[in-house]
Amino acid sequence: MNKPFTPPQNVKEVLERASRPKTAVITGGMPYANGPLHLGHLAGAIVPPDIMARYMRMLIGKDNVLFVSGNDDHGSTSESSAVKAGKGVREFIDEIHDKQVQTITRYGISYDIFSGTSQPDCYPIHAETSQDFMRKMWKNGLLEKKTTNQWYDPKINRFLQDRNVTGKCPNPNCTNESAYSDNCEVCGMEYDPSQLLNPKSALSGATPELKPTAHLWMDMTKVQDQLVEWLKSKQNKWRKGVINQVMDTVLPAFQFDNIHEPAYKEMKANLPKHKSRYAPGKKVVVQFENKEDFINGMNMMTVQEIPVEVMDGWAHRSITRDVVWGIPVPKEIDPEMEGKTLYVWPDSLIAPISFSKVALKNKGKGPDEWKRFWTESDSRVFQFLGQDNVYFYVLMQGAMWFGTQADPNRQPVLGEYQLTDIFSVFHLMVDGEKMSKSRGNFYSADQLTNEMGFDPDQVRYFLSTLGIAEKPSNFEFETFKERNKFLAGPMNAAIEKPISAVHSRFDGKVPDGKLLEKAEKETMKIVQLYLKNMEKGEHLTLLGQIENYARLINSFFVQYKPHDDRADLEGRKDGLYTSFYILKNLMIMLYPFAPQTMERVRVSLNLPETVWSVDELGTGIPAGHVIGQKGTYFPSVEGVQVD
Ligand SMILES: [Zn+2]
Repeated sequence: MNKPFTPPQNVKEVLERASRPKTAVITGGMPYANGPLHLGHLAGAIVPPDIMARYMRMLIGKDNVLFVSGNDDHGSTSESSAVKAGKGVREFIDEIHDKQVQTITRYGISYDIFSGTSQPDCYPIHAETSQDFMRKMWKNGLLEKKTTNQWYDPKINRFLQDRNVTGKCPNPNCTNESAYSDNCEVCGMEYDPSQLLNPKSALSGATPELKPTAHLWMDMTKVQDQLVEWLKSKQNKWRKGVINQVMDTVLPAFQFDNIHEPAYKEMKANLPKHKSRYAPGKKVVVQFENKEDFINGMNMMTVQEIPVEVMDGWAHRSITRDVVWGIPVPKEIDPEMEGKTLYVWPDSLIAPISFSKVALKNKGKGPDEWKRFWTESDSRVFQFLGQDNVYFYVLMQGAMWFGTQADPNRQPVLGEYQLTDIFSVFHLMVDGEKMSKSRGNFYSADQLTNEMGFDPDQVRYFLSTLGIAEKPSNFEFETFKERNKFLAGPMNAAIEKPISAVHSRFDGKVPDGKLLEKAEKETMKIVQLYLKNMEKGEHLTLLGQIENYARLINSFFVQYKPHDDRADLEGRKDGLYTSFYILKNLMIMLYPFAPQTMERVRVSLNLPETVWSVDELGTGIPAGHVIGQKGTYFPSVEGVQVD
C-alpha cells in the first residue's frame, strides 16, 4: 500500500524529497566564431544555462555536473567571414574565440569548458565522435545518398552554400534583389534554386551555375514513431511552445485539396484516429498518431480516389556539404563522398559530447568517464536555445541519437545516448524592437560592462527577471535602471543591516537568539518554490518571491531593532539571529543569478565555499559564529546615458 501523502514539515524534509539526477550536462546554443557575444546570446544561450549549471552543482555536487560549450567553428559562416576579413580561418576564429572567452569570464559564466569544434584540443576527439555517428547512422539505414543540383562558382571552382548565393526573388510581385537561393526573406516565398533570377556568388561576384552533386541525406521517418513516443513522455514536462511546435511537425500527416472535403467527411468516421485542420493553399491537413494508422489512412484515401500529398518535408535533410572546412565523411561510407564534410548543424549537435570528453580529459578523468554523463538513464542533459533552433535540437538531434543505437526502433537503453531536455527561450527585443545594428539597438555584452558601466551581475539578474523562458521579452533600459535601484537599495540593505548590527552591537558574533516562526514558515515556502522553478529554468515569479523574502530582514529590523540598545534584548537577539538565517538562505538562492556579488557576501559572512549547496538551506548560522567585514555588494549605477 502506498503511504498517504503528507506535506513536508520543514526545510530538511523538502530537500530530502527533491528529485536529484545522478549526473547532469548543461549546454546551450553555440555561438558562431564570427563576432562578439551580444545581449541576445547572454539572454538565451549563456546566462540561463549558467544559472542551471550553478544550481545543479548545488543540488548534486560539482563532480557530477558538466557545463560545456564552445564555438560552432565549421561550415561556411566562419569561413566566409574570415575571407571577408582578409584573414586565414584559423587566425580569424582564434581572435574571436579569445575575445568571447574574455566576455564569458567577465560575466562569471562557469563553463567546465568553452572550446570550439575546430580547436586543436577538441578537433581530433570531435572528428572521431562525429564520424562514429555517421558510420552508425549509415549502418542503421538512416542515411541515403542522393544527387541534387547545387550552385557552383566557376570563378573560384567550388560549390556555394545557400546563403552565399543571392538573386532576384522569382515572385513577380516582389522586388527583393537579394533573395536567398531557395527562399525570400521579404515576401516569404520558398522556391527551387533554379527559379532564382540573376543569381550572384557572394564570395566572388561571379554568376554561379547549378551542378549535380551527391550528398548524404537523413531520413527521419525511419525513427518517426520513436520520436513521437519520446515527445509524448515530455508533454507535461517541457515548455508548451516547444512541445506543440515539434509534435505538430513530427506526427505523420498528409494533406489534400479542400475540393475533396465532402468526400473526406463521408469517410472520416472510418479513418484511423486522427486530427484535421485547414492549411494555407486551400488544403486540409490530416494528422495521425503513428505510422501504421497513417499508412492505413492513406490507403483508404487512395481507394476513394482522393489524391494526397505526404507531409514529410521536415524529415529529409542533407547532412553533408561541399565545404572543405569541417569533419570529413568517413571514406568507407561511400568513395563518392570523399572531400565532403558534415553539415554544420549535425556537427554542432554532436559537439557538446565532444566538449564533454575534452573537459573530462582536462580534469584527468578516464576515457570512458563521459558515458556517466551521456549514456546512463539517471543522468540528465539540459539544453538551452532560442526557439528558432528547436527543430534541430529536438527532431534532428533525437533522430541522430536513435540512429546510433544497436536497434534504432526503440527508446535508448543503458549505454546509449540518452535523450535530452530542451529549454527554449523566446526572442529578446531591445527597447521594443528586434535587436539590430542598423536600428542602433544592438548591444554587445562588453559594451554593457566596459562602455556603459554596468556590473555583469546586474545584467544577469535583470535578464533573469524578464521571463524570456515564458514569453517574448523586452530589454528596456528604464526598467533595467529600476531593477538596479532595487538591488542597490532594499536588497543591499537586507545584506548590510545584519552585518553592521552584529559589529556595532554584538561584538561581531551571531547572538544566541531563537529562530522566529515566521521566518521558518516563509523559508519552507520559498525553498519549495525554488527547487521547482530552478529545475524548470523559470525565474520570473521566483525572483519576485525571493525579493519579498529578502524584505523579511528589513521588517525584522523594524520590529526588533537589533541595532538599537534601547529595544528589548531578547527580541533583538532573536531578530538578528533570524536575519542571519534569512541572509544565508538568500545568498545561496541568489548565487546562481549573481555569483560574483554573492561570493562577496559569503566572504563577509565568513562561511566556507561548501556553503554553495542547497542542503545548506535552512541550516542557519550558529550562535557565536564570527562575522567578517562588510563589503560592497550590488553597485548603484545611476546616470548611465542611453540614447
Ligand atoms: Zn520575395
